[in-house]
Amino acid sequence: MADPDCIFCKILAGELPATIVDEDERTIAFMDIAPATRGHALVVPRVHTVDLLSVEPEDLRAVADAARRLAGRAKDRLSADGVNLLNSCGSAAWQTVFHFHIHVIPRYDGDPLRLPWVPSPGDQADIAAAAQELAGR
Ligand code: AMP
Ligand code: ZN
Repeated sequence: MADPDCIFCKILAGELPATIVDEDERTIAFMDIAPATRGHALVVPRVHTVDLLSVEPEDLRAVADAARRLAGRAKDRLSADGVNLLNSCGSAAWQTVFHFHIHVIPRYDGDPLRLPWVPSPGDQADIAAAAQELAGR
């Protein structure tokens, strides 16, 4: 169930400190130690699993529900103007802790966060080719 080398498993086991803000049968949520904005929290399943592609569907649903709960609280209690949910799956996608988690990042009008890409029109043929590979089962 737990990975002895995983910092989030250590938090779950009470072996590392964390500021817990939400818990249920399948999940806990705690404050990120390096917050992107005020109120940045992480929601994790209690059962160790590496990433989005390996998490059990029931745990994924529970983590999503908890993330939505916290997003609502960020708006109601921290007066956030918006919220980003972020999951990084794989080191190419910036994942640094390999215990599945969703970041709940409250957003405030005028905060310094920016999209990490510059939106610009893509190559239509390549969009269509990628779509063909992605579509269907
Ligand atoms: P990611 O890069 O998406 O895997 O996210 C990992 C997150 O975990 C980062 O935002 C870190 O700041 C955060 N983090 C790492 N260690 C701890 C810790 N001990 N307590 C709380 N957050 C942590
Ligand atoms: Zn873990």
